[in-house]
Amino acid sequence: MKLAESGWDEQFDFIVVGSGGGGMVAALAAAESSEKVLLLESTDKFGGSTGMSGGILWVPNNPLQAGDGVEDSRDAGAAYLDALTPNDPTPLAAERREAFLDTAPQVVNFMLRKGIPLKRCEGWSDYHDELPGGCARGRSVIADNFDLRELGDKADKLRVGNFPLPVTWPGPRDLALIRRTFRGFMAGVKLSAYVAWMKIRGARLVSMGAALQGRMLKLIYATRGIDLRTEAPVVDLVKEGERVMGVIAQIGGKQTRIRASRGVLICSGGFARNQDMRDEYMPKPTHDDWSHTNAGDLGGPIAMAMEKGAQSYFDGNAIWLVSSRNPDGSKVFHLNDLAKPHCIMVDRQGRRFSDESGSYMQNGLNMYAAGAVPAWVVLDSRHRSRYPWGIMLPGKTPDALIASGYMKKAETLEDLARQCGIDANGLKQGVDRFNGFARTGVDEDFQRGANSYDKVFGDPSVKPNPCLGTIEKAPFYAIEVFPGDVGTVGGLVVDRHARVVDGQGTPIPGLYAAGNCAAPIFGRTYPGAGASIAGTCTFGYLAARHAMGANDAHA
Ligand SMILES: Cc1cc2nc3c(=O)[nH]c(=O)nc-3n(C[C@H](O)[C@H](O)[C@H](O)COP(=O)(O)OP(=O)(O)OC[C@H]3O[C@@H](n4cnc5c(N)ncnc54)[C@H](O)[C@@H]3O)c2cc1C
Repeated sequence: MKLAESGWDEQFDFIVVGSGGGGMVAALAAAESSEKVLLLESTDKFGGSTGMSGGILWVPNNPLQAGDGVEDSRDAGAAYLDALTPNDPTPLAAERREAFLDTAPQVVNFMLRKGIPLKRCEGWSDYHDELPGGCARGRSVIADNFDLRELGDKADKLRVGNFPLPVTWPGPRDLALIRRTFRGFMAGVKLSAYVAWMKIRGARLVSMGAALQGRMLKLIYATRGIDLRTEAPVVDLVKEGERVMGVIAQIGGKQTRIRASRGVLICSGGFARNQDMRDEYMPKPTHDDWSHTNAGDLGGPIAMAMEKGAQSYFDGNAIWLVSSRNPDGSKVFHLNDLAKPHCIMVDRQGRRFSDESGSYMQNGLNMYAAGAVPAWVVLDSRHRSRYPWGIMLPGKTPDALIASGYMKKAETLEDLARQCGIDANGLKQGVDRFNGFARTGVDEDFQRGANSYDKVFGDPSVKPNPCLGTIEKAPFYAIEVFPGDVGTVGGLVVDRHARVVDGQGTPIPGLYAAGNCAAPIFGRTYPGAGASIAGTCTFGYLAARHAMGANDAHA
């Protein structure tokens, strides 16, 4: 029977819905055993939120660790994840964690074999390294910078983030201390020389997630057998009997029925840009414009699969990142700056409620748990003179930021509290208590600076605790912050092969999911830098290999 007579417009072996990290890895992995792979992307650019991201992958027992003398093992990774996720109620999460531990190192090998230069993020500790199996030297890897010229006339098809400079690890850590440490100063000198040299060479450098995705996109363009299309949203899944047979995509204004003989992988990101889904699944208040994700993070394919009988799991979580809104309306997240001394985050009563230097996901969870949405970050003048805040360099605070109301400024904490609408007595008491901790170096309330991760973005020249500095030197500053996110957590339940399961836990033949459209691997925790991208890439890889019936010979 001819294709058209069968009701299909096109036919492939494997269809990937979404071009984030997992989607690209899956397309490349499937193309090792098929010449009929289709990658469909709803927006006008390839890369997804992965392309806008830090591009880091968190991979326990990864093949780069041994070369640097970092002790790690699968068992240590398993012990750490067990300690992080006791009593995790997420369906099938335990088997996904096992699959992750087995496969994520293979994905690193796969990328290396494909010629993607990855390096370790030395010193970017696991976020809870104090737990059994935690690794203080870190399990994260990142791709080297990428020159967009390598994509030729396709360079503008790559989605890139807002990072202003081509910085890779440890740049973000060291540059923030440019006024404080010799290492920070040298990082500035090296970066200036590097940027100047690259400019002379005419390079168009991108870093982090754009570098990872740029390299994968280049490989995909060069791979025979991968057909890829932008502005081609999948609008429905085609299910016949129990099996998902293909998709319906909106291509060139026309609904196109595309068959997938081996399977369909949904790797379409989460639902951060869909206010209705946020209202349904997220803690309140919640706003789609609080998200730093790609505008295509709309959750459509999650709903399509649920309608076809897929089991789902949402527990009101996201990869939170404390954020503020600049006067021009743009958002900026606070990670490196929030971790520094002479800075606290408080609720309307003026009380601290979190370890400001700790995991960003945990800070977001704590904001909601404390009812601190929005919250306020209070800075002592030494924070402003020594460290960046958002994209503002250390030193002078532009008057426009004060005049716009973005930043409140006052000579006393009482006046600062009044300007922010914070309880002045509460703030005074909270600051007094915190200042005591800063002097002894022990945060008795939230253990700030007690583990290795907290110290990653601290200031080593501040003693006795690099994360704690008193709030006592005027002028004081305050900025309103909200729980921004870089991706939602929650979606389709998948098994260890990335197969989507139905309400009874039985795999739906032909349907796979990976990344933020799938239920979490790590419960309500974030184990370390790169856990999300490592997750999407690992489950994209698993899906492709399972669908194609591949064995592990190439891993
Ligand atoms: C600024 C920033 C920094 C970050 N840093 C890191 C980091 O360093 N490490 C880390 O692990 N995580 C990081 N994250 C989070 C991480 O980038 C995401 O959680 C992860 O990349 C999500 O991957 P994904 O494959 O699920 O989705 P995405 O990468 O978003 O890809 C999904 C793609 O599917 C497309 N799509 C959606 N619907 C459809 C449809 N109907 N049809 C076709 N295509 C569709 C989307 O447009 C998108 O391109 C960061 C995020 C941001 C924004």
